[in-house]
Amino acid sequence: MTIEPIPVGHKTLRLRQLSPKRGPSFSPNLYRWMRDCAHFYTDGGVAQAVYRVKNDSPATSYLGAGTLVIGIPMHGYPGDKDFSGAPLIGVLCKGSSEPRVCFANLVPDLELVEGFWDRYLAVGRCAIDPDHNEHFLGGARFQEHGDHRTCLWCGATQHNEHRQASGAARPAGVALAA
Ligand SMILES: [Zn+2]
Repeated sequence: MTIEPIPVGHKTLRLRQLSPKRGPSFSPNLYRWMRDCAHFYTDGGVAQAVYRVKNDSPATSYLGAGTLVIGIPMHGYPGDKDFSGAPLIGVLCKGSSEPRVCFANLVPDLELVEGFWDRYLAVGRCAIDPDHNEHFLGGARFQEHGDHRTCLWCGATQHNEHRQASGAARPAGVALAA
């Protein structure tokens, strides 16, 4: 039986396009992880994609609902539901020190984040944090104007009230993401 490969990731994306040298919105740690841990197509395209843990799925018990993971479905044999990758927040915090691991039977619990790489190329880490709740290390992100601020990476504007409310909800540990 032939297993048809299911294309995932971004067929024309090259590692150099993710380099933090391209601008402060690009994550140095995501670049390092991609460089050292990611899979690429033989012609150079990126085989990784970003997925979100589905609400009410079994994986919420150990990854949390809505958690983003980066990697690829294994497709090693017919019916293979294993996923090879890592939680995205771990990649952002630890770079290539975040191990790629095999999550048994995780694929049915994931939904693809459509268009992630194209958004990342356009707005960098704002593709990961569109609500602007997280504090990323490195690279000035906001310009303050009185009672609001503008994101220098994607152009979004936020009022201070929203910022304080979202900042209070920030989970511990996120401040180390880079
Ligand atoms: Zn932004």
